[in-house]
Amino acid sequence: MSSCGCYGVPTSKRVKVEGQEIGISGYDEIMSKALEHLDKTDEEQRDVIRQGMKAHNYVPPALEKDYVEALWQEFRQLRAKKLGQVEERFHGIPREEIAWFPTVDVDKCTGCGKCVDFCQRRVYVLDDKAVVRNPYRCVVSCTGCTTQCSEDAISFPSLIELRETLKALRKKYGIISE
Ligand code: SF4
Ligand code: SF4
Repeated sequence: MSSCGCYGVPTSKRVKVEGQEIGISGYDEIMSKALEHLDKTDEEQRDVIRQGMKAHNYVPPALEKDYVEALWQEFRQLRAKKLGQVEERFHGIPREEIAWFPTVDVDKCTGCGKCVDFCQRRVYVLDDKAVVRNPYRCVVSCTGCTTQCSEDAISFPSLIELRETLKALRKKYGIISE
């Protein structure tokens, strides 16, 4: 790395901001940096992107939000690939509309960390107790981590609730059930 903090010759990519194609300098560097923070929250990852983008590009203040959003959408695809996720949609439904993720009872949790180590999707982080840091990375209908908890501290919505939620969302998005 050079003394100015750059990573050699910056790469560039055109992304759509508000319907217009804009060249983003340092695209690969911005994405690589953000991918180093997979254990952080979406907001923290978004912040890494914002900082990287501003370090490599002049961003008109009025458009900063739109630039970040455009890069964020690109990043989500790369992140999904890196995490081995097939999709950020579940059968055509945006994943973040499906309230399926674990809830930890802090009074029961002893902070043993078994669920944190078990979950390949990095849904949890350990901060004294297990914390559900990335809820929407949880695989819809998976309850695997409950088998790790001897304290019965992890719970999920019921499968009946999930079925009802999916039914309503399929209707909302006009998706014909299989
Ligand atoms: S396995 Fe159970 S007790 Fe251990 S950290 Fe996870 S929730 Fe807490
Ligand atoms: S249910 Fe599966 S994907 Fe979700 S947090 Fe537990 S182990 Fe991870």
